[in-house]
Amino acid sequence: MITLSGIHTILIEMELLNTQINCPYCGEPIDILLDDSVEQQDYYEDCSVCCRPIRVCISTDVDGDLLLDIKRDDEC
Ligand SMILES: [Zn+2]
Repeated sequence: MITLSGIHTILIEMELLNTQINCPYCGEPIDILLDDSVEQQDYYEDCSVCCRPIRVCISTDVDGDLLLDIKRDDEC
């Protein structure tokens, strides 16, 4: 949760990491961009090969490392 004071403009530097994952449907490697400035993310990324929605769950562990969980939409 980010609280804005109203006086200052807070610029959040987004660090985008380009990561390669394998599509859980067709198995093709696709590139996704990770934004590690957000602690937890859960979104869909369409596979660039078969166009099916890949569920990408990103969280951080206690060491601050990014944990990436790739799921099929029909798995959960
Ligand atoms: Zn695919």
